[in-house]
Amino acid sequence: MPPLESDHGRGFLSQFSASEDLGEHFSPVPEGYQRGRTKFVVVVGTVMSGLGKGIFSSSLAKLLKDKGLSVTPVKLEGYLNIDSGTLNPYRHGEVFVLDDGLETDMDLGTYERVLNQNLSRRNFMTAGQIYTEILECERRGGYLGRDVQMIPHVTGAVKMKLRQLAMGGPKGRQIDVVFVEVGGTAGDYENGFYIEALRELAFEEGDDSACFVALTYIIEPAILGEQKSKAAQLGMKRLMEAGIQPHIIACRAKNEVTAKVAQKISMFSNVPLKRVFSMHDRESIYVIPDAMRAEGLDREILSILKLHDRVDTVAEDKARAIWSGFSARLAAHRDHKITLGISGKYAALRDAYASIDKAVEHCGIELGAEVAVRWLDSSDVDTTARAQNALDGVDALIVPGGFGVRGVEGKIHCVELARTKRIPFLGICLGFQVAVIEYARNVLGWKDAHSTEFDPKSAHGVISELPDQKKLEGIVGGTMRLGAQDVAITPGSLAAFLVGGSKLVRERFRHRYEVDPAFITALETAGLVFSGRHPGQPIMQVLELPVSAHPYFIGAQFHPELTSRPLSPQPLFMGLVAAAIAQKEPAFAQSTLGKRWVRSSTAASTTTASA
Ligand code: GLN
Repeated sequence: MPPLESDHGRGFLSQFSASEDLGEHFSPVPEGYQRGRTKFVVVVGTVMSGLGKGIFSSSLAKLLKDKGLSVTPVKLEGYLNIDSGTLNPYRHGEVFVLDDGLETDMDLGTYERVLNQNLSRRNFMTAGQIYTEILECERRGGYLGRDVQMIPHVTGAVKMKLRQLAMGGPKGRQIDVVFVEVGGTAGDYENGFYIEALRELAFEEGDDSACFVALTYIIEPAILGEQKSKAAQLGMKRLMEAGIQPHIIACRAKNEVTAKVAQKISMFSNVPLKRVFSMHDRESIYVIPDAMRAEGLDREILSILKLHDRVDTVAEDKARAIWSGFSARLAAHRDHKITLGISGKYAALRDAYASIDKAVEHCGIELGAEVAVRWLDSSDVDTTARAQNALDGVDALIVPGGFGVRGVEGKIHCVELARTKRIPFLGICLGFQVAVIEYARNVLGWKDAHSTEFDPKSAHGVISELPDQKKLEGIVGGTMRLGAQDVAITPGSLAAFLVGGSKLVRERFRHRYEVDPAFITALETAGLVFSGRHPGQPIMQVLELPVSAHPYFIGAQFHPELTSRPLSPQPLFMGLVAAAIAQKEPAFAQSTLGKRWVRSSTAASTTTASA
């Protein structure tokens, strides 16, 4: 086992010397931190979780970022896991990997996409991380014989970490606004210490430094046919019992919140009516920032936090023009229609593939295509005939990442069909690996080819454990090859065409297994092209078939979905959707978008020849 001390542990407590007071009023402030300079918007859920706190908070943060303010979000999780890496996607949705390799919750993906900003491990806290740090500090004798308490030590640690986050602004300046999302619901046992820490923080930072937003829910029981505010009122009480008076109330609801309900909520929670907002369901999350602005939510935040002087109106006009262009594309008629199959074992839960779903959506908007996603449960396609049936009418196929043997044979059948029937294909991580296995089995004729993850004894373990991983047997959490790495793209390849040249691209990884270097030459001789590699080691990171052999067959050992953004969709996804459109409508290849994203086989051979 590696030493217990985690990266999270080194952060803040170790910088206190034994002579410092970790005692009665432990409320650490990082050196150079200017109180009151950074403002905090704290979003707390009441009534129930799952209301879209992340979407709310990121949309609001975007509005302020567009005004030229520096912003950063942080999610506070009540659970004891150190990160989200060991959580089952069926229960918690996908694991979102950050650039620095932290395995986080899918909400961090929402923040990165909406804010168009990379986040780091400082943007994600769990109770497990905080307790680990405190217990490690205690074992080092860091508390000088004192008893270690939830207050002040745990709350002090939370405040310290929030302030450290605030210190990481551009050009060494403090961030203007930190958006704090408290996981769960006010009144939950496990997040109580976060709420207390935030209450203390708001007090210590001084007037106009914190804005508490209560995100509540207005029920509308079908049998009554009207909105009822009681549950929201009770939820608000829980927050007030914890010593927090919200400044703003955002009401999630199915339909627009009625004036009567808004008045009641205002009255019972001491929040002026103009600060009670209806955040009812919308057709798309992308219209939420504009809806918030129309209602004046951003103006209220600026007033509460006295931020008017920091607004850059020129930057705001520019950002608004860019976003309006995106909104127009979103609302425009989609000329093209394709059906995209995604064959994974968590097909029943879309959240398990949230970023893939989003990446596909970004491409649909950019290319003017309506993409109907068909989720195929890979455990159900255990024969070629079944796979054929499932793929009937599918114009493009994605085989996503995954762990464990269930559904793997189904994925292999799907890849075989995509390859032989010339269906545009994108394999991601495990999807990349099964494409290698399929090629080895059906083109090289190695019927026993497999990954040693599933068949450790195979003589053709074309996918095998990374050397670094072999040393880590038995430790599950945080031990994979994680985070962003450079990928060197081969000149003249389809991958180079997509990323706009032969260069290094940075993509995020989360895997234990790789193409076994011993089999690379045989696979290449049989026609498989490895067009993306680690710059210094024999780690294969992109595979493809020549465009002369297949219109679009590509796989990535990394997770391209994690870096797709609304305004800059990820190239491998763009190529997939574009290839599918071009197969249905050959004229598309001649359009401006088609010329950019569809690689014709004639162009390919010219580029290859000149490369
Ligand atoms: N199970 C495979 C590995 O660990 C693939 C991982 C993934 O798809 N994220 O290498």
